[in-house]
This record gives sequence, C-alpha cells and structure tokens, in this order.
Amino acid sequence: MKPYRIETTCVQGGYTPKNGEPRQIPIVQSTTFKYDTGEDMGKLFDLEASGYFYTRLQNPTNDYVAAKIAALEGGTAAMLTSSGQAANFFAMFNLASCGDHMVASSSIYGGTFNLISVTMAKMGIETTFVSPDCTDEELNAAFRPNTKLVFGETIANPALTVLDIEQFAKAAHAHGVPLIVDNTFATPVNCRPIEWGADIVTHSTTKYIDGHGVSVGGAIVDGGKFDWMAHKEKFPGLCTPDESYHGITYAEKFGMGGAFITKCTAQLMRDFGSIQSPQHAFYLNLGLESLHVRMERHCENGQKVAEYLQNHPKVERVSYCGLPGDKYYERAQKYLPHGSCGVVSFELKGGREAASVFMNSLRLAAIETHVADARTCCLNPASTTHRQMNDEQLKAAGVPAGLVRMSCGLENADDLIEDIAQALDKVE
Ligand SMILES: *Cc1c(COP(=O)(O)O)cnc(C)c1O
Repeated sequence: MKPYRIETTCVQGGYTPKNGEPRQIPIVQSTTFKYDTGEDMGKLFDLEASGYFYTRLQNPTNDYVAAKIAALEGGTAAMLTSSGQAANFFAMFNLASCGDHMVASSSIYGGTFNLISVTMAKMGIETTFVSPDCTDEELNAAFRPNTKLVFGETIANPALTVLDIEQFAKAAHAHGVPLIVDNTFATPVNCRPIEWGADIVTHSTTKYIDGHGVSVGGAIVDGGKFDWMAHKEKFPGLCTPDESYHGITYAEKFGMGGAFITKCTAQLMRDFGSIQSPQHAFYLNLGLESLHVRMERHCENGQKVAEYLQNHPKVERVSYCGLPGDKYYERAQKYLPHGSCGVVSFELKGGREAASVFMNSLRLAAIETHVADARTCCLNPASTTHRQMNDEQLKAAGVPAGLVRMSCGLENADDLIEDIAQALDKVE
C-alpha cells in the first residue's frame, strides 16, 4: 500500500487499533509485562521473539509514537529517548567509541557542541569541526581512517545555517560512514533528510514536535539504507557478535533496516537507561497530530517577523533562510521549499546592551531558554545557552554576542510585530 501523505501520517501514523481497541494511543503505564512461562520471556531476552518485558527497553506506547516518527521521516525503525541530548549521544555513541573520530558541522546546538567537544572527547572520541559552508576539499580533508560518522543539523540552532545535506552525505559515503542529521528545527513536515541521503535522523522532540513546551524528549530514526556489512571493519559493534547480548551480530540478524535501532536499544538503552516515559510519549503524540498544521503558522509568522525586522533601522542583520538575499536562501529553496521554521535570529545595532533592553521591553515574547513552542519566546544565546563558548567559538558557531534568537509562536503576526516595534522603540 502506498504510504499516506505527511499530514495523514501526522494524525494517524504508527498506531492502527484493531476491532474494539482504544481509538487513542493507549498509555501503557506498566514497567513490566507478564508471561506464562520462563521460556516465553527467555526468547524476548535473546531477541528471538519481539515483545515487551521491561519498559526501560521497550514499551508499546513509545513504540507506537516512534513508529509514527519513523513513517514521517521515511525511515525503517525509530526509538524515543528521554531528551534530544540523549538522542544525539546515543546515535553517535552507537557507532563511535574510544579511539574513534567524528566529523561535525561547527554550526550546531550548544548542548551538542559541548557533548561532542568536551564529554565525548573525555571518552576518547575526537571530533573535527567543519564549516557548514565548507568546500568538498575542506570536508574531505576532515576525515581520518578512524572516522565513524558525520554529524550536522538541517537548520542549526541558533545560527540558522542550512546544511547542504547532499554534500555532507556524499562525503560521508565516499569515506564509508553514515551521515547523522539532527532535524529538530525543520521537522519532517518541512524536510526529510533521509530523502537527501542522510542515514540517521535525530530529534529533540522537546521543540516543534511536542510544540507546547510540556515535555522534554528525543527520537532517533534509521533510514535503513546504510550497508553496515559493506564496511564491516569500521563498525565491529554492528558487524561482529555482541558478547553482551548472546553473541548476536546485529547487522546479520536485523539487516540494514533494523540493526542500528536494535543495537541502540539493546545496548545503550539497556545500559544508560535514558528512556522516555509512556506518559511523555502520549503527550508527544498529541503534538505530532497537529505538527503539520502548526508548522505552517510558525513559518508564516517567522517570515512576517523577519521581513519586518529586515527593514527596521535599529537592526543590523537578520538571519532567516526564507528571506531572499539571506545567505541560505538558495539552499533553503532546495531543502525547505515549503518553509523552514519559526525561529528568526537578528543582531541589533547596539550589540549586547541593546539586545538586553529590547528583550526586557517585550510584552508578548517571553525570555526563555526554549524555542519552538506555541508561545513566542526569545533569548540572547551568548549569555545563556552558549555561555560555555569563548568569543572565537561563538563566532565560528555564527552566534555573535549581540544576537537575539526569537522563536515565533502561533499568535497573530500583527500582534507579534507590534510588540517587537514597541520594544525596539525603547532601544537607544
Ligand atoms: C534543543 C536541541 C537539542 C537538545 O535537545 P533536548 O531535548 O533539550 O535535550 C538538540 N539539538 C537541537 C537542534 C536542539 O534544538
């Protein structure tokens, strides 16, 4: 059967109740599952049969919602995690371990930058950062024999750079490794990285997918197209027996479509335990059901606010890839033809001080360390999310000290613009 269109999948994907079953995705609020015999349960432990035995590993509610996200991204398998941080860590650590190397775009979320450059470095995993605007030569030069993956964000938070997914995928594949794309800001409604060559897609579902600022969560989707066995020597974790799991070789037993997520669940979720609760997965699904409707309005408001700011005399520069003339406009036309997101960033002529007066004068937009929910909010990254970075790193990440990131919500655009106008009036 032909897959349904994205809007229908947002509403009804992942869960098809049988005769007499609940119409809504049920919240299976149970840590454990009952079996008649020890042998029945043993088969589950051995991954010989599929089913549930302990919610740290799998839970039906989470699986329904993960299946919906997999369908939205055009992937073969998916899992939910407790946060976006856990999703990115799991996705990378599922492939790279001590002594390995990764290539990452330098324009990424501050939390991910910290995870890669500090915490994973302590674990013995080194990373080379490349500009999202690098040439093929620069990109290829970043690889080493022990490189295990390439990482980037479709639309980077907060720099709003747009990744050339095809370029990064091509380089990754030429070096026999997969491309992981964090698709948080675009959401599968506006971009499906797997269709452009990405192999693994991650999400902080805390953002648009939840969309209401109610629950922290993450997701990992496998596109199922990367042939692990063709690069056996690079990925022993997938291509040789896992002694911690009864000698299973994931790539053989679960194939290209299932190996990555099965290993990630069986090893990393088992050992690190960063699960999403079934209750949170239920909330996540409520967000998914309206994602396609909300994204349209977020983008419409983002576009109108960006156009207003662009023409304002107190504004130095606006970054929004929907603006003709934006550095990423052409690339966005290719990868994000229906819109990008509701996040607009801009630099006030008065720098850090002006940004502070402006933000403190806003009435509708709240100052929050958050983006992508129904209510408009704003932030000065240099003094908050990115404060662990020095000026040089901030510049490399495309986040100058006076930058304001505004996440346009679902309010009336004219109200948002009037609020911005009165706050800009207060700036000297
Ligand atoms: C917020 C964010 C993360 C981290 O997600 P949490 O859910 O906050 O852990 C990762 N990547 C991007 C692009 C984000 O915006």
